[in-house]
Amino acid sequence: MVALIELEPVAEPASVRALREEVRAWLAAERRQGTFEPTCDSWLAGFSPAFSRKLAARGWVGMMLPPEYGGHGRSGLERFAVTAELLAAGAPVAAHWVADRQMAPMILRYGTEAQKRRFLPPIARGEEYWAIGMSEPGAGSDLAAVRTRLEPADGGWRLTGQKLWSSGAHGCHYMMVLCRSGPPEPDRHAGLTNVVVDLRAPGVTIRPIRLLNGEHHFNEVTFDGVFVPDDHVIGSPGDGWAQVTAELAFERSGPERILSTYPLLAEMVRAAAARPDDDRLATLVGGLAADLWALLRMSRAIAGMLDRGRDPEVEAALVKDLGTRFEQRVAEAGRAVHPGPVRLPAADPLGQRLAEAILHAPGFTIRGGTNEILRGIVARGLGLR
Ligand SMILES: Cc1cc2nc3c(=O)[nH]c(=O)nc-3n(C[C@H](O)[C@H](O)[C@H](O)COP(=O)(O)OP(=O)(O)OC[C@H]3O[C@@H](n4cnc5c(N)ncnc54)[C@H](O)[C@@H]3O)c2cc1C
Repeated sequence: MVALIELEPVAEPASVRALREEVRAWLAAERRQGTFEPTCDSWLAGFSPAFSRKLAARGWVGMMLPPEYGGHGRSGLERFAVTAELLAAGAPVAAHWVADRQMAPMILRYGTEAQKRRFLPPIARGEEYWAIGMSEPGAGSDLAAVRTRLEPADGGWRLTGQKLWSSGAHGCHYMMVLCRSGPPEPDRHAGLTNVVVDLRAPGVTIRPIRLLNGEHHFNEVTFDGVFVPDDHVIGSPGDGWAQVTAELAFERSGPERILSTYPLLAEMVRAAAARPDDDRLATLVGGLAADLWALLRMSRAIAGMLDRGRDPEVEAALVKDLGTRFEQRVAEAGRAVHPGPVRLPAADPLGQRLAEAILHAPGFTIRGGTNEILRGIVARGLGLR
């Protein structure tokens, strides 16, 4: 029998709606003051330590962390509302995004008390930023193929290997590196370990990998016998696979898998409003708005599951597959709305958002696990494989 995937609808309580409105009003005021310009894919492209610290001062970073670690003890639904507003505004949230989204919950769940006290408060203050060190040449979808090696050394370990596509590493303080700490075993998921690597340590080299237009967001990072102290190992050596699976559920489940091109959609709505007789445009934009509405409700249902302590691995994979294809459809639809070729920088906001969306769109269905891999997870969840 085919199993069912259920996404229970979650209503937004009045208190969360009030918080959403507070964030929206604050963002509008920041825009008026010229603090930021919206951009598509702002959670990858908008790296602003000053903005991250400002958000943190309002209590909107580390929201779900307990107060004893500098957090604010808020719910998943509250965090969902805040992050969705930030993304919709195209605000520059990339500096703290990875740390807040997946490293803080991972350290909270698997870290020692000393690690929690050392690493969580600066994340919640928006002061320390983290990169994801999973992918390598030859290890992307097949993550268990990682070859970066962790070997015992005096007082700790030495790390040797190479990570690829490391978003934001050139602006980050730390990387959570998935590496191999034991000899090859029949179970490929055994012998993997997560370690915290200080990206300023001797032996770390960070080289840019540029987008077509020269923008620098991701990197190749090599480790040449980098010293890793014992207390930078998360859990025990060999525990890495379960940790990384849990980390991926946080990485895949949020509204950033739906809203990366929202600033373009907002410009398209403005264009439609300025052309009231254009029925084709109204139909196009209305259809996208309806899809967005449904997707956001699905994504909010996942935030509700996380709040109830459930593991939404399959549901998150399903929504990420649908959401990232929606983000790409917005970029494609934008071409039908904007006359003529697009360039960066563009003279008008619609052209600018469209060019950003087209440049970034190919990565939407690859980063955080490709859509083919996600559909495999959904098929397994349905009992089909
Ligand atoms: C914008 C962006 C940012 C990124 N940031 C980071 C980061 O910060 N840190 C990090 O560690 N990584 C990052 N990545 C890397 C990303 O996680 C990998 O690119 C992704 O997991 C795919 O791995 P790969 O590139 O090695 O492709 P491969 O795994 O080689 O896949 C190639 C193709 O084969 C398909 N395929 C592979 N295996 C299967 C299978 N079993 N069934 C069906 N189809 C399959 C894939 O779907 C894909 O179409 C980023 C990627 C992008 C695009």
